[in-house]
Amino acid sequence: MPELTHRHTFALPSHCKQLESFTSVASLLAAYRTDMPVYILGGGSNSIFIDDFEGLVLVNDIKGIDVQHDEEGVRLTVGGGENWHDLVTYTVEQGWHGLENLALIPGSVGAAPIQNIGAYGLEVGERIEKVDVVVLDTGEQFSLSQQACEFGYRDSVFKRPEHNKWIVTHVHFFLPHNAVPITRYAELDALINPTAKDIFNTVIAVRQRKLPDPKLLGNAGSFFKNPVISKQHYTELCGRYGTVPGFEVDAANVKVPAAWLIDNAGFKGQCRDGVCSYQHQPLVLVNQSATSGLAVVAFAREIIDTVYTRFGVQLEPEVRLVGKTGLVTL
Ligand SMILES: Cc1cc2nc3c(=O)[nH]c(=O)nc-3n(C[C@H](O)[C@H](O)[C@H](O)COP(=O)(O)OP(=O)(O)OC[C@H]3O[C@@H](n4cnc5c(N)ncnc54)[C@H](O)[C@@H]3O)c2cc1C
Repeated sequence: MPELTHRHTFALPSHCKQLESFTSVASLLAAYRTDMPVYILGGGSNSIFIDDFEGLVLVNDIKGIDVQHDEEGVRLTVGGGENWHDLVTYTVEQGWHGLENLALIPGSVGAAPIQNIGAYGLEVGERIEKVDVVVLDTGEQFSLSQQACEFGYRDSVFKRPEHNKWIVTHVHFFLPHNAVPITRYAELDALINPTAKDIFNTVIAVRQRKLPDPKLLGNAGSFFKNPVISKQHYTELCGRYGTVPGFEVDAANVKVPAAWLIDNAGFKGQCRDGVCSYQHQPLVLVNQSATSGLAVVAFAREIIDTVYTRFGVQLEPEVRLVGKTGLVTL
């Protein structure tokens, strides 16, 4: 059975029944099978294989970057199998503003719109003009506009269960000449008139300081999303616990850092059966020495239950857990 251990950054020992790479729509459709479960894989940095997958894993290897210039800016059409950080590096090297805040996020270009990757004040959906899709069952191909992608916080139309056969083949980006550097995030606000390269370098330095390198310590980035709670609930928490960090989402809701909740529930640096809440960033669960997905599931459930009991806040996973036949919910 082909091994998946080093095809996902959490690196749990795991296998699948069959593994194929595709370099074009034609080779994707030729490799697709209807007689077993199918999982589309990019860089595996948002997927944890908690069991052996009893199906076909299709790895996106569609390559290519096409560049068009016009008066307004630069338009890029990028194959879904390109590496995300390499794309960001390429644009920064050309002196183009637009993607630099998203430096060093692992994974593929094709997966970027799926959860609308975001960091340091920018979400990728803001730079996407359209996304090319092929439907596995029918072979139908179409493009979705930015609006049709329904981008939200770590969310898009691609995450709806009814669209799980929609495969992203190419992503179209627009980097406007008049893009304003985004420096509102704390660690970037000391930069004065920064170039794309200044922001890129600062983001990389901050990320290297804060986040574990998956090549050295298995992890899938933030394990949970930052929950959104009502203002009333937020005020109650502040009354009980003093200052609770929070970011206003709209007139009625506040986003609370999941890291604060996990830390204040006592989990920072804690380990269970080889899975740990990372000591420098408790929102990241790391694979210290785990041998089975059961340990990941048990620890994640313990964190969810404890945070709910203590703060009345429901945590939701950001990572995708893949079991024997497909996605598993906690
Ligand atoms: C150290 C670290 C830091 C991270 N930091 C961030 C961060 O700052 N911000 C952030 O948003 N994320 C972050 N992540 C999460 C992750 O890097 C992103 O979600 C990334 O986009 C995943 O890309 P991938 O190719 O590895 O996805 P995979 O794990 O391979 O796939 C993710 C999901 O997308 C689906 N998928 C993949 N490719 C396609 C396709 N072509 N068509 C349809 N579906 C597809 C898969 O089936 C799966 O459900 C981080 C992860 C790590 C390990």
